[in-house]
Amino acid sequence: MKPDISGVGLVIQAAHFAADKHRDQRRKGVRNTPYINHPLEVAERLNRVAGIDDPVTLAAAILHDTIEDTETTRAELAGIFGNAIAALVAELTDEPGVTWQQRKRHEIDHAVHLSERAKMIKLADKTCNVADTVGNPPGEWTLSRRRDYLEFARLVADGCRGANAALDAEFERVMAEARAKLG
Ligand code: ZN
Repeated sequence: MKPDISGVGLVIQAAHFAADKHRDQRRKGVRNTPYINHPLEVAERLNRVAGIDDPVTLAAAILHDTIEDTETTRAELAGIFGNAIAALVAELTDEPGVTWQQRKRHEIDHAVHLSERAKMIKLADKTCNVADTVGNPPGEWTLSRRRDYLEFARLVADGCRGANAALDAEFERVMAEARAKLG
């Protein structure tokens, strides 16, 4: 299905939809920011760092956690935003593994098989999360848990490498900063 909306309208509609779906959620970080700040930050990073202005990529970035973290379905996204965006968000949705370790293992193994656009969104997402392990970590995370997260993010980023050189470089820069602070 093709969406009735396109261009800037698609991106604004995605922001409005995601804000509503995440309306009662907060990020786990100590700053207790509204959840929507995170997907907006991912889209902002794609645009600012890599100059990405493709509405499908930006809208999918804004919607990337809606299936995983709200009651949104792929069919619902396809109906409003079209199949391309729905497919991208589905690619970015974790398999519900039995344990955290299994879920993370799957995410690492899966990264290399993602489409180019999904790799860019995934890498920007990981870059934001790595920055958050320094600036806005979940309150209950110990230093070693934060270091473990960096290890995990590195493995996922390795799978995403090559989709966009500017995003690859930005990940390395943010990772080096986090390493300098967390060891
Ligand atoms: Zn995310």
